[in-house]
Amino acid sequence: MSPPSLSGTSADAAQALLSTFAPDPHPPIDVERLATLLGFQVVEIQSAGDELSGLVSPRHKIIGVNANHHPRRQRFTLAHELGHIILNHPPEGRCSAREIALFNREADAFASELLVPTQLLRQLAGTRTYSPSVLSRLFDVSEEAMILRLKIFVGRRS
Ligand SMILES: [Zn+2]
Repeated sequence: MSPPSLSGTSADAAQALLSTFAPDPHPPIDVERLATLLGFQVVEIQSAGDELSGLVSPRHKIIGVNANHHPRRQRFTLAHELGHIILNHPPEGRCSAREIALFNREADAFASELLVPTQLLRQLAGTRTYSPSVLSRLFDVSEEAMILRLKIFVGRRS
């Protein structure tokens, strides 16, 4: 397994979105509100199979999220789909498998930064030591996502 890395541009784009719509963010980040502010309607897909996390139609301004997934996973999916929108990724039908994989990694990096902004992590890290489980509850993300996020954060600080 290769080490996780936050693409600079994807993380920068998430920070830019936050500074525009939530200049003084507090955890947990209200991703649904950000989607609404961007003019998107968020709909729950009840009939989705487990393999589908979410989808987006920039043309119809709709983001669909698998209603059967854990709420924290749904938050990540929504942030991921916002990443595709903000980073102007073309529709998957027009991409090669390699491009799809790249765009999904970028959207994941965007989602990580949006849900757990570096700025907030830095503030918290300056006050006391938090465990990943406490941080995951604070930011309302999965513990797995938080552990990955902390690895990137620590890697970037040095
Ligand atoms: Zn995707």
